[in-house]
Formats: sequence, structure tokens, C-alpha cells
Amino acid sequence: MKVTIIGAGIMGATFAILAKELAPELDVTILERLDRAGAGNSWAFNNAGTGHEANCELNYTPVDEEVISVEKALKIHAQFNVAKQFWAYLVNKGAIKEPTSFINQTKHCTIVSEPSIEELKLRFKEMSAHHFFEHMRYSEDFDEIKSWIPFTMEGRARHEKMAATVIETGTDVNFGALTELMADYANQLGVKIEYGVHVKRVHRSPAGSWLVETQTRGAPVQHRADVLFVGAGGGAFPILKKSHLPFARRFTGFPVGGRFLQARITPEQADQYRAKTYGKAEVGAPPMSVPHLDLRVADGQHYLLFGPFASFKPVLEKGRGFVDYVRAMRLHDIPGLLNVALEHFPLVKYLISETFKGDRSMLAALDKFAPGLSKKFDWKPVEAGQRVQIIKDGDLQMGTEIIVSSDKTYGTILGASPGASVSPEVMLRALQQLMPAIADGDDAKTKLKAMFPEDNLDTLINNPERYREVRDAANNSLGIISKLSG
Ligand SMILES: Cc1cc2nc3c(=O)[nH]c(=O)nc-3n(C[C@H](O)[C@H](O)[C@H](O)COP(=O)(O)OP(=O)(O)OC[C@H]3O[C@@H](n4cnc5c(N)ncnc54)[C@H](O)[C@@H]3O)c2cc1C
Repeated sequence: MKVTIIGAGIMGATFAILAKELAPELDVTILERLDRAGAGNSWAFNNAGTGHEANCELNYTPVDEEVISVEKALKIHAQFNVAKQFWAYLVNKGAIKEPTSFINQTKHCTIVSEPSIEELKLRFKEMSAHHFFEHMRYSEDFDEIKSWIPFTMEGRARHEKMAATVIETGTDVNFGALTELMADYANQLGVKIEYGVHVKRVHRSPAGSWLVETQTRGAPVQHRADVLFVGAGGGAFPILKKSHLPFARRFTGFPVGGRFLQARITPEQADQYRAKTYGKAEVGAPPMSVPHLDLRVADGQHYLLFGPFASFKPVLEKGRGFVDYVRAMRLHDIPGLLNVALEHFPLVKYLISETFKGDRSMLAALDKFAPGLSKKFDWKPVEAGQRVQIIKDGDLQMGTEIIVSSDKTYGTILGASPGASVSPEVMLRALQQLMPAIADGDDAKTKLKAMFPEDNLDTLINNPERYREVRDAANNSLGIISKLSG
């Protein structure tokens, strides 16, 4: 069977490895428009590199009239722990030599001031009672918070009332490096990866297989596939539109651009901070604009990243033009877009106003989050990746969605969040839906157990012993110390 994957991002590379590990006889090819793997949204500085496990992101625990909901946080934490099992498998197998080349232990902190202190206290109370977050600590003590996250406190007046939580076992993940390592491994497993291949359209041949029309280094080239998986980020929307699949009409993309402030720091400064600190989004700001100050490690260098500053940018992917986005539109998409613009007018207004934020305003936002930090380091603005949120049946959605055609020959992933952190779990589900036959059978089950010792999210959520067992085993392989020192 010929399986073609469009896009060599973290989703495509993960899907390819899973398919080939489970069914080595499959003929798997990845087609990628860029000249290397992981160079789209998965690249290190196109995203924030947070190993999202709900340790510090307030938007995963919404509060409604003093009632906090933790369901989303529990699900994301469980999904990330499934992801770590898969990455640990790659390390244990020798497919990835050195875990620190893509994952590094980094504290996950949340910091808030009034009037959000009660919310954080409530969050801490609810979450620390669950085994996922049992090591979370809370403090309103200036010096203690400063000892956790000095860069956010050093320039702050002592009388300013702040509250913070910390979890020491969080991570910074270089998803770009991980994707490149996985693409190399996929190659060793026999997956062919063709770079510089831009898929223009896909359609069914009269014989029932998919014809994939590409522009390959300026020339039109056609491929044939029995099964297609489109993991093309924002580029998945136009491919779906042109597929003529009936459900394609229900989906449109809502693009959100972004920028970060970035500063190179020394290893000593990195050691001093070693944290990702999330704050609270401004009233009316979308969840993807929660401010955070992140230690990042990429290619052995250390950086601080602050942002993101969301923006209105009508393109499908970073580096692609406005025309591509417009071409992906159909007349039937316009009512849905107008509906979103009207229903989410404050969001659209916010994005447009953020687009015109200059360097000075960005630095002022940094100083509000971490007083004095704008002068301590040499910051420069960098363009982040492009999120394309889903508009489904005229409604804006913030999550991701796996879509599989009824004949199980076309699968795709749309949407943006929580993204790369949960990619192994999401790709496992996509594979099980698209090619159920290869994930069934005793042999496949044994292989799946090796890759994912425990992929049942409910078990991880409800069985503390099992969770600790698989978490500690994965952490051990990935160089993450599960137990707190103090
Ligand atoms: C600002 C920002 C911050 C983020 N922060 C985080 C974070 O902290 N933690 C986290 O887990 N996630 C984060 N994410 C999300 C994360 O980056 C994505 O979920 C993840 O990278 C998506 O992987 P992908 O493989 O789907 O997409 P990509 O990595 O973009 O890969 C898609 C690939 O498809 C290729 N492609 C597209 N169209 C075509 C075509 N027509 N023909 C051939 N190839 C094509 C592209 O070139 C690209 O290489 C963030 C995203 C953004 C934008």
C-alpha cells in the first residue's frame, strides 16, 4: 500500500514513524515544500517550545464565578505524558542519541498580581490535590518567588503583591530539532522524504487512488497514493478545499500571526533563571497571547523569549503570501468568515491593534511582566510561526481536529493548539482512525505497547500508581528528574 504524507513537520514525521514501525511493508513517502524537515511551525523559534502539560497555563483552567474547571488541564497533561513515552522509546532505541538535543528540564511557573491572586490560589488548591500536579508549590512571598524566577522579580517593588506557582519537572522542547531527528529515523526505517515539493492539489483518479499534483523545483510532477495524510499546518486547508471531499466545505482557516522578543543569554544566566513563566492574558486577549518569558535552548545556545504578540496576518504559513490564502478561499467560506468577524469582533480588533505594536510597545509589555528586563538584555523582535485556527460551520475553534474521510483514504489535522506537545498522542489517534487495520492484531499491539506503555488517558488521570510508574520511566530516559530535591 502506498501512503503519502504531505508535510515534514512534527505531525508528518511522527505519523510516518508510527506507520512504518507498525507496518514495515508500507511504502511511505513524505512530500515537503521546504528544503528540510521541521522548518515550518515546528522550527525552534516559530513556537515557544513549551512542553505543554498544563503546569502553568491559566487558559487551560478556566474559572467561571469562582468555579474552576480542570478537565482540559488533566487531558493535556495526560497527552503530554503519552508524548514523553514515545520520545523516551526513540531514545531507548538509539534512534535519538542525546535527549538534551531536543528536551531540557525547565521549571514551569505562573505569576500573577491583583486581581488574579485568588484565581491562582484556587487553581493551586484544585490542581495540587491531583497526582499530576502534586509537586506544585504556591507562594506569595516575594523572596521565595524571586528565588524561583529571578528575572521577573529583580526589578519589582517589594510592596507589589504577587503570587506564583512552580513545578520543577516542566520542559523546554526544541520541536524543530526533534522533527529533524525523527525525519532521519523515519528515513532509516525506509520512509522516503522528498524536499522542495509543493503539493498544489489532490484529487481522486477514476481507479480510486489519490493523484497528488506537485510543483517540484519548478516542474509539475504527479504522485499516486492509496492513502493520504495531510499534516501541512496552515497549508492543509487549501489541500482539503481542493480534494472535493464533501466535508471540506465545513472548514475555513482563521490565521493569526505572531512575534516574539528574543535575547541571547549566557549559560550562567540561563542557570540563574531556568524557567518558563506564564502570566495572565489581558482582558479580551485570545488564549494564544498569554504572555510568557521562556528560557529556550537551541543548538547548544541559550535564549530568552518573551511574547507572543499576536497579529492579524492573512497568510497560511510563515513565508507564504496573501495570494495563497485568498486562493484557498471559496465563495461558501465568506459567510463563515463574516460570522466570525462579527461574533469575535473584539478578537479581530485586538489582533489588528497588536499588528501595529512597535518595538517600544513590545519592550514596555516585557517590562510590565518583568520590570527592568528590557534593559538587562539585548532584545530583538523575531517573527513567530503562523497559527491557522479552524472555522467549522461558521464557528471559530481554538483546538485541533483530526478529520478522516469515510472511506479511510484521506486524513488530515487542522488547527493549532496545544500542538506539538501532544503530537504523538494525536498522531496515534489519527493513524488508528485512518488505517485501523495496521494498528490491530497481536503484533501491532506488542509494538504499540513498546512505544506507548500506557496511552489510555483515563488510566493516567485516575490511576496514580500507573501514572507515576510510566512518568518516571519516561522521565528517566529523557533526563528529567521526577523527584523534587526540597
Ligand atoms: C507562535 C506559536 C507558538 C507556539 N508555541 C507552542 C508551544 O510552546 N508548545 C507547543 O507544543 N506547540 C506550540 N505551537 C504549536 C506548534 O508549533 C504546532 O502545533 C506544530 O509545530 C505543528 O506541527 P505540524 O507538523 O502540523 O506543522 P508544521 O511544522 O508547520 O509542518 C507542516 C509542514 O507542511 C509543509 N507544507 C505545507 N503546505 C505544503 C504543501 N502544499 N506541499 C508540501 N508541503 C507543505 C510545510 O512546509 C511544513 O514543513 C506554537 C505555534 C505558534 C505559531
